[in-house]
Amino acid sequence: MTNPPSALPDHPAATAPYQPRGDSRQLSDSSSPTPAELTDCLFFSPEDGRIWLNDQRMLLLHSSAFGALRGEIIERLGLEQARGLFTRTGYACGARDARLIRERWPQADAAAVFRAGTHLHTLEGMTKVEPVHFKFDADSGFYEGEFLWHHSCEADEHVSAYGVGQDPVCWTETGYAIGFVSGLFGQMVIFREVECRGMGHASCRVIGKTAEQWGDAEQDLRYLEVSQPSTRPVAATPDAPLREGTRQSPPPRLIGASAAFNAATQALQRVALTPATVLISGESGVGKEMFARQLHQLSPRRDQPFVALNCAAIPDNLIESELFWCRARRLHRRDALAPRTFRARPGRHTVSG
Ligand SMILES: [Zn+2]
Repeated sequence: MTNPPSALPDHPAATAPYQPRGDSRQLSDSSSPTPAELTDCLFFSPEDGRIWLNDQRMLLLHSSAFGALRGEIIERLGLEQARGLFTRTGYACGARDARLIRERWPQADAAAVFRAGTHLHTLEGMTKVEPVHFKFDADSGFYEGEFLWHHSCEADEHVSAYGVGQDPVCWTETGYAIGFVSGLFGQMVIFREVECRGMGHASCRVIGKTAEQWGDAEQDLRYLEVSQPSTRPVAATPDAPLREGTRQSPPPRLIGASAAFNAATQALQRVALTPATVLISGESGVGKEMFARQLHQLSPRRDQPFVALNCAAIPDNLIESELFWCRARRLHRRDALAPRTFRARPGRHTVSG
């Protein structure tokens, strides 16, 4: 097969609130997604120069070239800056793979979904991941996991360039684990190497806990350029006081690794309490709908319905009356279309097209 499947539509189960709970000790080897099923997601399309992992385009890169790039970035930026950059790169890969698994296997057992990250990390050639154990419960905010990484590509490249050192060096792999698990868990789960081939150990040993469980995750978060989300409720404005008992369960936290993402999150929180119309733009797949849903949840209209409308599905000659029915009816025809969207469904809306 040379053609990848088209981008998967958001499965309702993949976008619904996800409160996973699981334990690797109760997980069957045959639970989907299995290593074989994940390998079947890999497509080579040599005639048009593309490689796909499901619907995501991938690259084959020589590990020596990765090592050379890594070395040049270390020389130019220094160890700390380079570590942050590669941690964030790994985070982006892990977060994308988490989304892939949720969309492709929306009904899968939660522990199998989390284990899929170890299979994908292995399949992509960064390291052979061996889970020791992992257990998690999003309801109580508990995550604990321990893994072994065998023959890490990044450790091999680092040692060949710099020799054995005092600090762990698998920055990209660490970022991947953080991105994958945090993307599923809905809270920042921090992984640390307590042993590393770059420090002379036979394999890397990795421990994962939530930032709250670690208690001293400031440095880890700095590599991600992420501040821990405030747990304080959003302050009420005089126009929109928060009434006791009217606030529903807190909206799912947005977790991102880039400065731009965090800036957008901050802007979202500021504008959510105002009646302003908000336009969210960006490339396909960057999370516009997730931001829109968060905006609705934070707004005083969170008790009203959230209506998603696909503009691309509305004929050109009807779009004004659909979106701005009042003006269209007043200006053009008295018997215009009945209000099917805004009037009938007050609340925060999102449109796409
Ligand atoms: Zn390592």
